Amino acid sequence: MLHLQINEARKLIIETGLALAERKLILGSWGNISMKIEKDCFAITPSGRSYDQLNPDDIVIVNSEGIKLAGVRTPSTEIKMHLALYASNPEFRAIVHTHSTYACAVAAMRENIPPFIEDMVQVIGGPIKCAKYAVAGSEALAKNTVAAINGSNAALLANHGAICCGKTLREALNIADIVEKSAKIFCITSSMGGGICIDPKNVKIIRAFYKEHYSKRQAGEEF
Ligand SMILES: [Zn+2]
Repeated sequence: MLHLQINEARKLIIETGLALAERKLILGSWGNISMKIEKDCFAITPSGRSYDQLNPDDIVIVNSEGIKLAGVRTPSTEIKMHLALYASNPEFRAIVHTHSTYACAVAAMRENIPPFIEDMVQVIGGPIKCAKYAVAGSEALAKNTVAAINGSNAALLANHGAICCGKTLREALNIADIVEKSAKIFCITSSMGGGICIDPKNVKIIRAFYKEHYSKRQAGEEF
């Protein structure tokens, strides 16, 4: 059974990598993707491999401590960040880390994106906070990212990129699209004097409707 789940996870990760490359949310071999298969079993992209050249066997299987269980490649250098995020929230079952242009632009400014667009508030839950700077792959970056994401589904990584967490890879990919769109809107509105935030009361209402109904309709669990 676990064997079938591992095969399915490897296939889904490769499909997601191609979708991210096609959307230009990642370039070359940068960024990474992971999936929680079960409590102590995760699938993650290998380090330094282009998404258009990945085979199922290239996807590495690790436990919650990052110890390799299957696969010949070296797991992504960002494995600590992925595992720390899964440990921080049991709802996270799929993670996509991108280096998309507008998210990187805002991350280079070390700014938070305020809750000013409804679809962003629905899928991310509020502002997209920028995690404090730490070198890529470090324990400190994993810690800073968990602190920044705090109850939401995405964060920017200072001078680096974005991280998007969902229940499925499809949802994580959708969040990556929304993060990039929100970052672009932030850049545009900043040049026009700044956007106006949705007030906290309405942020709660919009988020609750998404979690209780809209996300279930997207997943085909509610009509
Ligand atoms: Zn990165």
